[in-house]
Amino acid sequence: MPRAFLAACTAALLTGLIAGAQAPAPFDLVIRNGSIVDGTGSPWYRGDLAVRGDAIARIAPRIDAPAARVIDAIGKVVAPGFIDLHTHARRGIFQVPTADNYVRQGVTTLIEGPDGSSPLPIKPFLERIAATRITPNFGLFVGQGSIRTEVIGSVNRKATEAEIEKMRGMVRQGMHDGALGLSSGLFYVPGTFTPTVEVIELAKVAGQMGGIYISHMRDEAGGVLNSVRETIEIGEKGGLPTQVTHHKIIGTANWGKSVETLRLIDEARARGVDATIDQYPYTASSTSIQAALMPAYALEGGRDEILKRLQNQSLRNELKKETARLIAEERGGGNPNNVQLARCDWDHSLDGKRLGDVTRARGVEPTVDNAADTVFWIVENGGCSGIFHAIDEQDLQRILRHPATMIGSDGEVPIFGEANPHPRSYGTFVRVLGRYVRDLKTITLEDAVHKMSAFPAQRIGLADRGVLREGLKADIAIFDPATVADRATFEQPHQYAVGVAQVIVNGQVVFEDGKMTAARPGRVLFGPAARARSN
Ligand SMILES: [Zn+2]
Repeated sequence: MPRAFLAACTAALLTGLIAGAQAPAPFDLVIRNGSIVDGTGSPWYRGDLAVRGDAIARIAPRIDAPAARVIDAIGKVVAPGFIDLHTHARRGIFQVPTADNYVRQGVTTLIEGPDGSSPLPIKPFLERIAATRITPNFGLFVGQGSIRTEVIGSVNRKATEAEIEKMRGMVRQGMHDGALGLSSGLFYVPGTFTPTVEVIELAKVAGQMGGIYISHMRDEAGGVLNSVRETIEIGEKGGLPTQVTHHKIIGTANWGKSVETLRLIDEARARGVDATIDQYPYTASSTSIQAALMPAYALEGGRDEILKRLQNQSLRNELKKETARLIAEERGGGNPNNVQLARCDWDHSLDGKRLGDVTRARGVEPTVDNAADTVFWIVENGGCSGIFHAIDEQDLQRILRHPATMIGSDGEVPIFGEANPHPRSYGTFVRVLGRYVRDLKTITLEDAVHKMSAFPAQRIGLADRGVLREGLKADIAIFDPATVADRATFEQPHQYAVGVAQVIVNGQVVFEDGKMTAARPGRVLFGPAARARSN
């Protein structure tokens, strides 16, 4: 070996030893001068944060050690990446594995399988996610509705004991394969046909395996109080944490009832039931036109059965009364123009149009009754998804302020520019930070970040994420609190968030300077039963 080389090595070794006495090995990334909002709800503090590999290596008032990369975050907030407990991201994640609409808001973890609807079995689905190389992390609930459909079909009857045993087995398998818990959508077919006791039987299995229960409730309008009671009962008798998902109060006649729903949650918590809430910050909801504006009994058995019922004139007249009532008193918000079509695959020129305007274009006055006919016309032509402006701002803010409420989008991964989706997919998290923290001061910045990071992480047992602390995974959102905002509107939803400077997933910068980077470091985050096995 040449002498010069040896000498160089010795010199390097000596330098290393001397440097090593004071500082650890260089960092991959240091974020300097930021206002650290750590996710716990504690007041922000000024500090530097260093990343090595996929983890937070150090947090200190000042970090001068060498780093491969330095981000100056002066004037900006450095927060844990946001965790979205309620997404329908399988709509789009395979076409847009970078999930730009979410990542540009600072979201670093997407959780799928809400509303009782999940892929089954979940194992091949999670393998496909892993093989796709997506940008954010990804987790999954197993869905009660999907399980019931597979075992019983979309039929309105009780399950037999043998069927319940089979469904229990499917929940067990889902948990074993990595689910975070059991979701239900008791508003939808077939959840709506499920007696409470049957849900409790399945919830017990998820609970025994460390999972939680999360529910799109049976009724978010006139029956919302009983639905909250049912959600609490399922947690209480099922022996597991329970969550009212996308909590809202639908229909003008019901506005204000959040005072009572929150009291029910408080009372449950006071007697030891671990009941929580998530919410998106918009006064409109979104689901299919038929689920929102037709009674459940009309939807039993699937599309062919629905069409048969609409062909029966006396049944059609009966259904029309019920659909008119749903427009007048519930999701329709009292006016056909409070219903907006989001996506109609059989005629995309309808995307974004209002139900009243579509009714007028069909040559009749946009009355509630005529709009009910338009609903049937839509369903007969193949159906649409819709947006329903029927939520009160006061209820929204009251729910947001509640300490048991976290943030979840209920969004999806849109194809940019396609259809007219609910803006929540593009704006939920930054809307809370912009409109509700900065502009309206409904909650503090620290509370908001907590509701988006540590709180949901703790809810699903992600002990290694959701807080900025040494040793935890480096999922980080850096944003300007003065400019962070949503741009997506109900009229023009395809607009990305603004004010987010950098987003980091598992230690890698995935978004900066207004652009997604090439890194796609997202991981599948397995639930408690699968984690326990791998330890
Ligand atoms: Zn839902």
